[in-house]
Amino acid sequence: MAARVFLGLGSNLAAPESQLKQAFDALASLPDSQVLAHSSLYFSKPLGPQDQPDYVNAAVLLSTSLSPTALLDACQSLEQQQGRERLRHWGERTLDIDILLYDELELTSERLILPHPQAHLRDFVLLPLQELQADLVLHNQGLTHWLGQCPSFVYHSRKLD
Ligand code: AMP
Repeated sequence: MAARVFLGLGSNLAAPESQLKQAFDALASLPDSQVLAHSSLYFSKPLGPQDQPDYVNAAVLLSTSLSPTALLDACQSLEQQQGRERLRHWGERTLDIDILLYDELELTSERLILPHPQAHLRDFVLLPLQELQADLVLHNQGLTHWLGQCPSFVYHSRKLD
């Protein structure tokens, strides 16, 4: 049976809006997978070093029969195809794809932690998720709860379209 997976996407290099739209299409072409919905695009301030461009973020709801590790491989391969370079920790990137939730699976392995350990702390993840499923629960709490905890002086997101 297919899993319901939420992915978080971000880009702040090389025409970020186009990068995310290209990623939506690429995700739709993954084997044994279907994009059920994607959120609007959100604009956010960088979380790490401030001397980098602002980000565009979005979330995708995917139905997939890929295992969590196979999905991570596929997402990392899309990041590479779209020219991702790892210049510095929390630094600029053409495309970042995080697996936020894979059904209700809880997993900690060398390569993968599920649910994503920082998803509930970032409004640029929570706002797109809210669009896809307003009653989604993360770490036993609703999205509104976590949005209320986000330090707004750090995170600023606004809807682009
Ligand atoms: P990032 O710099 O955000 O792309 O982090 C990528 C690293 O995080 C990779 O080495 C992944 O193996 C690891 N990772 C752990 N948990 C996750 C997750 N839920 N989704 C994506 N990457 C993850």
